[in-house]
Amino acid sequence: MITRLIRQVGIVVAGTMGRGIAQVFSQSGRKVILYDSVASQLLDAVQIIASSLDRQVKKGQLESRQKETYLQNIESVAGLEQLSPSDFVVEAVAENLALKQEIFYQLGNLCREEVILSSNTSSISITQLGVASGRPDRTVGMHFMNPVPLMKLVEIVRGRGTSEETLLVTREIATSLEKLSVDVNDSPGFVSNRVLMPMINEAIFCVYEGVGVVKSIDLVMKIGMNHPLGPLALADLIGLDVCLDIMETLYEGFNDTKYRPCPLLKKMVAEGRMGKKSGQGFYAYV
Ligand code: NAD
Repeated sequence: MITRLIRQVGIVVAGTMGRGIAQVFSQSGRKVILYDSVASQLLDAVQIIASSLDRQVKKGQLESRQKETYLQNIESVAGLEQLSPSDFVVEAVAENLALKQEIFYQLGNLCREEVILSSNTSSISITQLGVASGRPDRTVGMHFMNPVPLMKLVEIVRGRGTSEETLLVTREIATSLEKLSVDVNDSPGFVSNRVLMPMINEAIFCVYEGVGVVKSIDLVMKIGMNHPLGPLALADLIGLDVCLDIMETLYEGFNDTKYRPCPLLKKMVAEGRMGKKSGQGFYAYV
């Protein structure tokens, strides 16, 4: 297994996805170097990971001494350059092309030549990130689902320059995390968000146009279509800012008005109503 050589994994940054990804890598027995420039984000991340591990202990899925080991596997760092010993990197900064390009440029300069740089992006071009990194053959999409410790799927995205070897290693890593991986090609939103996000956006249009109230729309999809979560509750879980960023990537990527973000989504994000993470979205969270 090539992945045995991957002992230290660098994660950029400690947001919703970054901390979930840090947790699953740590639980696979690897050392995790978790970078964020904001100290409070790192502290929050460690607390949230500890609570998640506590839940596993309560359910009898984990022994408490294992919990301590998994927490000790995670080293929090405040400088991106401290990721240089990493054998594999996962980037999970906000869904913004320029920001991700800058991070990939820096990672390309500071990580050893053979290191694979992966992005957890929901919709942004892996090909463009590969160009920014200067190592397109070792740049790949590793799109985890939220919440990472619970969701089984990883969408592995092949950029135009991604090599077969990079795909092979990334698939093996996903398997070692007990995830099921599916290969897709680089295209705005890949498969997951090209299919999911227009549905969520359409549900938001239904609220905006008064077709139904939030609860009714979610019930139609939950009970009527047998979805585990209604689209508006799911939008809150994903983060309304993330949903808007993805819709904008789809809209710009395809130049097609069918992907235009709903004005209500834009308004809610502008007001700071980001969903679960801000305490208020289509639902209130305490
Ligand atoms: P988040 O808002 O929870 O975290 C984003 C992080 O980026 C935060 O820690 C923030 O401090 C940091 N950040 C923002 N601007 C920055 C800057 N200029 N420099 C450095 N750091 C900056 O978002 P998230 O949900 O964790 O999303 C992160 C990535 O994961 C995005 O690419 C998103 O599309 C993807 N993703 C999200 C989900 C989801 O359901 N939320 C699912 C799969 C993939």
